[in-house]
Amino acid sequence: MTIPPGSVIGIVGGGQLGRMLAMAAAQLGYQCHIFDPHEHPPAADVAASVTRAPFDDAEALRRFGEAVDVATYEFENLPVEALAVLGEKLRPGTRSLAIAQDRAAEKSFIEQAGARVTPWRAVSSLDEVEAAVAELGAPVVLKTRRYGYDGKGQAWVRAESETETAWYAIGEEPAVAEAGVDFFAEFSVIVARWEEGAHAFWDSPENEHENGILRRSTVPSGDAVALQVAEAREAALAIAEALGHVGVLTVEFFASAGGPLVNEIAPRVHNSGHWTIEGAVISQFEQHIRAICGLPQGSTDLAGRSAVMENLIGAEINRWPELVAQPGLHVHIYGKGEPRPGRKMGHTTRVIC
Ligand code: AMP
Repeated sequence: MTIPPGSVIGIVGGGQLGRMLAMAAAQLGYQCHIFDPHEHPPAADVAASVTRAPFDDAEALRRFGEAVDVATYEFENLPVEALAVLGEKLRPGTRSLAIAQDRAAEKSFIEQAGARVTPWRAVSSLDEVEAAVAELGAPVVLKTRRYGYDGKGQAWVRAESETETAWYAIGEEPAVAEAGVDFFAEFSVIVARWEEGAHAFWDSPENEHENGILRRSTVPSGDAVALQVAEAREAALAIAEALGHVGVLTVEFFASAGGPLVNEIAPRVHNSGHWTIEGAVISQFEQHIRAICGLPQGSTDLAGRSAVMENLIGAEINRWPELVAQPGLHVHIYGKGEPRPGRKMGHTTRVIC
């Protein structure tokens, strides 16, 4: 099914990803309708219309569904049951959402798809956490099953004596306990998939995190990571196919001595793909729109020899005068107003030709 330019694309979530999706959609002649509970979501500045309502407002979502030709989402912490009202119009579907928002379901699903993850246990009591730490051996990281992002809802157990403190630190919530991975690098596979199964990969960026937040993505990756990309792509595609995913899917990996291990999946465009706006022929945002609208795929080739994307986190956004003064630097400011510590406020991309 082709959704032609001129149609209305609904985007659930109005953050920076929704904003960049709406900008790519506008370039192809679509109008975007944002659904978000906030007063001034960043995507509203660049969209044709906005519904301000809670994500679990079934009636508002039903009206939104009637007003759009196709709908998508820009983050995964959304109520699956409420979004089901969007039916076939929602791409990717609720299956991708349901799996990606629960770390235990996600890990089981990844393993069933034939990909590898670090050893893990589902835990929901201190006794279970203690047993998991004893079995897996420290270091172990506890991550809440739901609502974690950018390192939130996580606590490390570096020695057995830290188990109780870590369990309290994550709020005694149902969680997964994961064996700490001794990785030498992190990277992601970003794949776009069409309804009929066609797919396209971008170069895999090497990703550096600080305090659990992405700091920098670089393409091409180093040679050691590049050697793991073929296996990682196979895993990412198997996951996308098992989900019946339509649109962009991002799979984050640890490059370990034993090969690539999946860290987590995001059923959406991803921060580690922001470099594609200027660094690839067709960006992750435009490709997502193409995939959900049934348009032909664009080229994912690199637009230059290399690209580096750096996030502007919190008060770093105040560096904008110095950054926009650099003639070759692409500066993206998300329009979020006052910076808060740890909040992604913008990013820069430098492409070397
Ligand atoms: P996440 O929110 O799961 O993506 O975790 C954020 C970051 O914490 C990752 O990108 C890694 O740098 C680090 N991290 C998470 N899980 C592990 C693990 N099992 N072993 C080592 N580092 C981890």
